[in-house]
Amino acid sequence: MLVLGGGFAGVGAAQGLKKSDAEVVLVDKHDYHTFQPLLYQVATGLLEQPAVGHPLRDLFQEQDNLRVHQDVVTAIDLDARRVEFAELEPLAYDYLVLGLGAEVNFFGVEGAADHAFPLYTLPDAVRLKDHVLSTWEEADRRHELVEDGALNVVVVGGGPTGVETAGAMAELYNGVFDKDYPDLAEAAATITLVEAGPEIFPMFKPDIRQYTVEALEKRGVEVKTGDVVQSIAPTRVRLKSGAELEAHTLVWGAGLQGNALVQSLGLELGRGNRIEVDEQLRIPSHPEVYAVGDVAAITDGKTQQVLPQLGSVALQSGEHAGKTIAGRIAGKETKPFRYHDKGTMAAIGRGSAVVQMLGGKTMKGRTASLAWGTVHLALLPTNEDRAKAVVDWAGAGLTHQRSARITVES
Ligand SMILES: Cc1cc2nc3c(=O)[nH]c(=O)nc-3n(C[C@H](O)[C@H](O)[C@H](O)COP(=O)(O)OP(=O)(O)OC[C@H]3O[C@@H](n4cnc5c(N)ncnc54)[C@H](O)[C@@H]3O)c2cc1C
Repeated sequence: MLVLGGGFAGVGAAQGLKKSDAEVVLVDKHDYHTFQPLLYQVATGLLEQPAVGHPLRDLFQEQDNLRVHQDVVTAIDLDARRVEFAELEPLAYDYLVLGLGAEVNFFGVEGAADHAFPLYTLPDAVRLKDHVLSTWEEADRRHELVEDGALNVVVVGGGPTGVETAGAMAELYNGVFDKDYPDLAEAAATITLVEAGPEIFPMFKPDIRQYTVEALEKRGVEVKTGDVVQSIAPTRVRLKSGAELEAHTLVWGAGLQGNALVQSLGLELGRGNRIEVDEQLRIPSHPEVYAVGDVAAITDGKTQQVLPQLGSVALQSGEHAGKTIAGRIAGKETKPFRYHDKGTMAAIGRGSAVVQMLGGKTMKGRTASLAWGTVHLALLPTNEDRAKAVVDWAGAGLTHQRSARITVES
C-alpha cells in the first residue's frame, strides 16, 4: 500500500490506515509536512520555518504499519501498478493514494517563471522573505534604489493567497520597516494587489468583498482590479492596460495546476490538470488508485460542484481514502465521500479576517479572526505546532514584532 505525498491529503490517508493490516509506505520529496495556509506568515517574518514544516517521521512514530521515505516520485505506471523514484528502487502496490498536490501555474506570462515569487512551498516562502529583506538592505546601502521601486511589492491574484499575502506584506512594512530603517521613508513603498477579474474574492459575498477592499486599503494596499499582468522583469511589471509598475518584488498568487506528474498518467484530466475521481475518490479506470487533495477534482455530492483546493478538503478526502482502503482490505462495505464544509475564510491582517459559512452567513473583523485562528490551529498537525503558532501570533499582536525577519545563508 503506497501513499505518494505527505501534505494534508497524504497524511490524512496514512492516518486513516492506522488500524488496518496494510503495510503502508509514504513517500514525499521533503522530510517534512508543509502547512501551506501559513506560508505567507513565514514569508513576512511572523512565523519561523518549523511552525509550518513538521518532520513527517515524527507524525508517524506511533504507527507501526507505516514507513516514511524521502524521495522524488519520477514515474507512475498505473497499468503495471508500479512507482519509480529518483533514488529508491521501484515499488509495486496493491492500493495507491495519489496526494501529490498542485503546483504553481504561471499561465505562460512572460518572465514569470524567472522573476515572480510563488508561494506554494516552504522554500518559496523563505526565498520571498530573504528577497524582501535583502532588497531592504540594498536600498539602505543605495538610497537611489528607492526611486527605482526597490521597496515596492506587487501581488498578483485576488483570491485568498494574494489577499492574505498583500495584507501581511503591508503589516510587515507598517510594523517594522520604518523602525528598522529610519533613514528610508516607509511611505516610499507601495503594495499593489492586481486581480484580472472585476473584483477580488469572487467566491465571497459582496459584503465580504467590500470589507476586504477597505481593510486592505486601510493598511495601504492599492487594489487594482480588471487588469492582467502581461510580463514580469526583475524590477518592472507590465500590465495589459499598458501600465508599468516599478517593483522589485512580484508575488504570484494567481493560479495552480495539478502536479506535473499527473500529465504522464494517460488519464483525461479535469480543469487545472486535476484527476477526476468517482464518489469514492477512485480513478474510475483504476479502482485501486485513489486521488485526493489538490491533485484531484472531487465533486461535492451535495452541490455537484468541484470542491475547491483547500486544506480541509485535502485532509478529509485523504482520511476518507485511507479509511475506505482499510475497509476494503477488511472486506467491509465502503461509503461515498461527503465533505463537511467548515466555511471559507481568509485573514487580511491583525484582528481582520473574513468567514463565509456554508449557509451563506458571514463574519468579518475580530470575530472572524478568532474563527480563522481556531480552524487553522485545528488543521496544524500537532499540539506542539499549535502552541508555537499561538505564541508567535500573540507576540506579534502585542508587540508588532516580526522576530523571524532574518536571512540565514546555508
Ligand atoms: C499560500 C497558500 C495559502 C493557503 N491557505 C489556505 C487556507 O487558509 N485554508 C485552507 O483550507 N487551505 C489553504 N490553502 C490550500 C491548502 O494548503 C491546500 O489545499 C493543501 O495543502 C492541499 O493538500 P495536498 O496534500 O493535496 O497537497 P500538498 O499540501 O501540496 O502536498 C503535496 C505533497 O506532495 C509532495 N510531492 C509533490 N511532488 C512530489 C514528487 N514528485 N515526489 C515526491 N513528493 C512530491 C510535496 O512535497 C507535498 O508534501 C492554501 C494554499 C496556499 C499555497
